[in-house]
Order: sequence, then C-alpha cells, then structure tokens
Amino acid sequence: TSPDEEGMGMGSHFASVGGSLYGLWINTKTGKRFTDEFGDRKTTTDAIFKVLDAGGKTISVTDSVGVASFSKVRPGAMDILRKNGAVKEYATLDDLAKAYGISPDALKQTFAEFNKAIESGKDTEFGRKLDKDIKPLMHAPYYVSEMSPKIHHTMGGIATDTSTRVLSVVDDKPIPGLYAAGECTGGIHGAVRIGANAVMDCLVNGKLAGETVMKDAKK
Ligand SMILES: Cc1cc2nc3c(=O)[nH]c(=O)nc-3n(C[C@H](O)[C@H](O)[C@H](O)COP(=O)(O)OP(=O)(O)OC[C@H]3O[C@@H](n4cnc5c(N)ncnc54)[C@H](O)[C@@H]3O)c2cc1C
Repeated sequence: TSPDEEGMGMGSHFASVGGSLYGLWINTKTGKRFTDEFGDRKTTTDAIFKVLDAGGKTISVTDSVGVASFSKVRPGAMDILRKNGAVKEYATLDDLAKAYGISPDALKQTFAEFNKAIESGKDTEFGRKLDKDIKPLMHAPYYVSEMSPKIHHTMGGIATDTSTRVLSVVDDKPIPGLYAAGECTGGIHGAVRIGANAVMDCLVNGKLAGETVMKDAKK
C-alpha cells in the first residue's frame, strides 16, 4: 500500500478539522478544554506540551454530525483513519471517558458548556471563533484522535537582506554570489508562521532571488 492508503500523516487532518472546526480538544487529566483550538500554531503547541508534560493526554473529539461535516471537507479520510486506528469511535461519552480515564461528569460538563457556547455563538472561555457550520455536540457516536505536535516548518535559518542576499554571521554583510529563499531562511515569518504562507514565501522570494541574481550579475 502507498503511504496515502496507510493514512500516514492523516491524523492531524482529523485533529485540525474534524476535532477542531467541528469539535473540541480535551485534556484527559481534567476532562476540560485547554486552549482555543483555532489558536495559532505556537499557542496550541505550547498548550498541548503543557498537558503532555503534566502527564495528561490531549485528545481531539467530535460527534457523528461533526464527522459528517469533516467528511465533506476531507472525503474518504474517515475510512482511512478508522482503518489505521488514528481515530477511534465510542458509543457514548461514558465509554469515551472510560477509555481515557477521564471523569465522566467532568467530560459531560465540558460538552454541556461548549454546546452552550455553540448555541450562543460565543466562546467566553477561550475566545475561539466558532465555525458557522459547527452544531452542538450531542449526536453519538463520538470520535477521538490523540494529539501531539510534530515538526512542520523550521522557523529559524539563514539571514538574508530584503533582496534575498545571504548575510554573513561574521559582519551581517551580504556574501557575494550567495542567495537564499524559502524554508532555509529565517525570520520571514517571525516566531509563528501563518498557515499557507510558506509556499507564498517560496514563490515571492524565489522570484526575487532570481531578479537579484540578474541585477548583481550585471554590476
Ligand atoms: C506536512 C506539511 C504540510 C505543509 N503544508 C503547507 C501548506 O499547506 N501551505 C504552505 O504554504 N506550506 C506548507 N508546508 C510548508 C512548505 O511545504 C515548505 O515550507 C516548503 O515546501 C519549503 O520549500 P523549500 O523549497 O524552501 O524547501 P524544500 O521543499 O525543503 O526544498 C529543499 C530542497 O533542497 C534539497 N536539498 C537539501 N540539501 C541539499 C544538498 N546538500 N544539496 C542539494 N539539494 C539539497 C532537498 O532535497 C529539497 O528538495 C507544509 C509542510 C509540511 C511538512
């Protein structure tokens, strides 16, 4: 089978769409939400590590209605995720709580509070922007994936000037004939890259690098 058929790397699609756009994230130690599921990558990563460091697990959860919405956005993904075990199904919240050692009362309270937030359109706990298609989570079965951060993009790297000339670490001056663009460079995105902007970085700065090479060659 190909990596795609095995669902390699697919778990994050459930966590970042099914279990966030249409669901919520839970700290198994407390049974509570622990972050704005739509927070930026650094915010959510730090929040997940905090739970993991304290010995908890971070799980992403939605119900059958959330999974139906997820399946519209990622057709076929649920078949792969169920088959490879990245997403598990539970008939009730009690079953889910038992599987992860969560207090059932705490879990039910979290769902009740979050459902109120969905109905009012306002997440007062974490200020999450609620998707227009999210519905109160009350339609069993429930679906769960365990989450942990993975390396996705390197924020640091080679320093360049705004024309993509590589700067020397010795004197911060351009090294003649050396240019860099894309993920090998650092600082373009600050400490947190906004989703989808890496390809834009490559395209814009790659073109700019070509132009600068031509300009410098003429000198
Ligand atoms: C799972 C995943 C999903 C992503 N999704 C998105 C997205 O949706 N939108 C988005 O904007 N960005 C996304 N990104 C980030 C984006 O894909 C990368 O930042 C981007 O592709 C980097 O392109 P690049 O050309 O700078 O570097 P690379 O694509 O890493 O290219 C570097 C090349 O250099 C080659 N190389 C390395 N060392 C040497 C050597 N010594 N000699 C010769 N060749 C060498 C490598 O083999 C490679 O081909 C994603 C990244 C990952 C990992």
